[in-house]
Amino acid sequence: MLSEFELIARYFDRPQAPDNVVKLGVGDDCALLAPPPGQTLAISTDMLVEGRHFFAGADPEKLGHKALAVNLSDLAAMGAKPMAFTLALALPSADENWLAGFARGLFALADAEGIRLIGGDTTRGPLNLCITVMGSVPVDEALRRDAAKNGDDLWVSGTLGDARLALEVLKGNLTLTPALLSLAEERLHRPTPRCALGMALRGIAHAAIDVSDGLLGDLGHLLARSQLGAEIDAASLPAGPAVAQQAADRQTDYMLNGGDDYELCFTAPPEQRDAVLSAAASVNTPITRIGRLKSGAGIQILDTAGKSLPFTSQSFDHFGKDI
Ligand code: ADP
Ligand code: MG
Repeated sequence: MLSEFELIARYFDRPQAPDNVVKLGVGDDCALLAPPPGQTLAISTDMLVEGRHFFAGADPEKLGHKALAVNLSDLAAMGAKPMAFTLALALPSADENWLAGFARGLFALADAEGIRLIGGDTTRGPLNLCITVMGSVPVDEALRRDAAKNGDDLWVSGTLGDARLALEVLKGNLTLTPALLSLAEERLHRPTPRCALGMALRGIAHAAIDVSDGLLGDLGHLLARSQLGAEIDAASLPAGPAVAQQAADRQTDYMLNGGDDYELCFTAPPEQRDAVLSAAASVNTPITRIGRLKSGAGIQILDTAGKSLPFTSQSFDHFGKDI
C-alpha cells in the first residue's frame, strides 16, 4: 500500500530545475514563484467533484486533462499566460492504475501549455479534484468582464453545443451514431483551453469570459458586469459538427444553453475586426462574430430578418434546480 508521501513522490513530484518563474516546486511548505516584473498575477480555482461534474468510474486520464483544462480556460479568459498550478486531491484509495492515468492526462496538458505543478495537498476522501492555476498578465491588459463597451462586436471561439449533446447521450436522453458520439464526447471530456487566443487578444479585445455553463448564462455575467445588453444573430452561431446534425431547435438550444464548451466569448470594437481576425489566425484558432453589444440589459436572439426569437436561458447553477 502506497503511503501519502510515496504517492506524491511517484505521481506528482517531477524534479525540474528552477526556472525564471518557479524558484521552488513540490516538496517544501510552500512553493516559491517569481512573477515576471511589471506583470500582475492571475489566479483561479476550479473543483471537479465525482457525481457532480463527472460520472463515477470516469476515465482518469480524461479527468486529469479536464481538471487542468477548465482551470486553464479561466486564465485564457483573462488573457493571462499560464505559469504554475497546485493540485488538491481527495481520493477514496491509492489506486495506482487510477493515479497513473490521471497523472498522464494532467501532465500531457501541463507540458503542452508550459505550466508546472508546484504543490498541493493529498487526502483520503470522496473523489474530488481541485486545481488552482496561476498566470501572469501585464498590468492593465487583462481581459476583464467589466470592460465591454457599447457597440462592441461579440465573438466566440471554436464551436458550441457538442459537449452538451454528448452529455444528453450519456444520460440516456438521446442517441447518436458512434462516429458523431465520439466527436461530441471529445468535446465533453477533452476541452481545449484557449490560452493562446486569450494572450493574442490582449490590447485588442475589451472584455472576455470563458463559456463553461452555457453561452447565454456566461455572456449574461459579462453583460451584467459591463452594464450592457447584447444581440446575437442565431444563424451565425458556430455549431459543433455533431450538434449541426440535430434538428434546428435543439441545435440553437444546445449552442445557447449547453455547458462545458470552454470556448472564449469576447468583445472588441468594430474598428478592430481585422486585428481580431489576424490575432486568431496567428494562433490557429477559429473564431466567429455572433452579434453586438448595445445599451440596456439582457440578450436578444435575432433571426436573419432581424426579428427577435423567443428563447429560454437555462444556465447551470449548482444550487439552482437540476436541469
Ligand atoms: P504540509 O504538511 O507542509 O502542508 P504536505 O505534507 O501536505 O505539506 O505536502 C508535502 C509536499 O507535497 C508539499 O510541498 C505539497 O505542496 C506537496 N503536495 C502534496 N500533495 C500534492 C499533490 N497532489 N500534487 C502536488 N504536490 C503535492
Ligand atoms: Mg508544512
